[in-house]
Amino acid sequence: MKGLKGKTVVVTGASSGIGEALARECAVQGANVVLGARSLQKLQLIVGDIRSKGGEATYCAVDVTKPEECRNLIDTAVGEYGGLDVLICNAGLSMRALFDDVDLEVLHRLMDVNFWGTVYCTKYALPYLQASHGSLVGISSVAGLHGLPGRTGYSASKYAMTGFLETVRIENLKKGLHVMVACPGFTASNVRFSALTADGSSQGETPRDEAKMMTPEQVARIVIRGIEKRKRLCLMEAEGRATHFIKKFAPGFLDRMFYMVMAREPDSPLK
Ligand code: NDP
Repeated sequence: MKGLKGKTVVVTGASSGIGEALARECAVQGANVVLGARSLQKLQLIVGDIRSKGGEATYCAVDVTKPEECRNLIDTAVGEYGGLDVLICNAGLSMRALFDDVDLEVLHRLMDVNFWGTVYCTKYALPYLQASHGSLVGISSVAGLHGLPGRTGYSASKYAMTGFLETVRIENLKKGLHVMVACPGFTASNVRFSALTADGSSQGETPRDEAKMMTPEQVARIVIRGIEKRKRLCLMEAEGRATHFIKKFAPGFLDRMFYMVMAREPDSPLK
């Protein structure tokens, strides 16, 4: 894909963080952008701002855990712009609790948003992406490359996304579809504030120094470059690249590193 100018891009979870930055950056690059999320007011403000800067964007309220709403999101893009070139499955939810303590409903909720949300949107977008020889992108995580303690449901949902997307890639090998799994490391956003605790309530605060993380804008630019280069796997920074590399040669060492890093967080559930 040579640049995004004139292409139609759907971004889920576009009301905040990485999704918002992706939507804004795609619009700057000349794409027609369709923003999906549940917070209608936030979407309206972002779309208004994009348009005021000369970009082309529209929005659609969507809860990605509901198949009919995902179908409506894709129909909105096709109805408004006549087709679809890129679907970015970015909507996501995290957690923080040991598996010993966690309510099983938390894991269901994470699978519903992160995995099933990706499946539903892909299901309705696929015929259009096949027709355009477009790109299907999943925003996974470093936690989708190696298990992250305190995040069983999150890691599982991101691994599930990867297995699903890789299989869709192979099934479409002769149809010109590009499928990319992007794995950001810690990125400053709302994700740790909204993360679910053991009983399913939101954490409401971040246990990490958000100022030391990548910004959503940096992640968005790397993801867009990955789409343009039609990469399979998009790693962001030293953390992601090191995880990917060390896992191949010293997975036990990586287990200990992940344990140590996460145990150092204030109020870590790892005792
Ligand atoms: P944010 O919490 O800032 O954004 C999450 C987005 O997902 C929001 O727009 C939210 O919108 C949307 N969302 C949540 N639930 C639903 C739902 N049921 N239906 C539709 N939209 C939903 O987090 P990030 O920007 O950080 O997260 C974006 C993606 O990046 C996620 O998949 C996350 O797992 C991944 N990621 C993030 C990292 C980080 O450190 N920030 C690291 C690695 C990966 P609304 O509430 O309006 O519906």
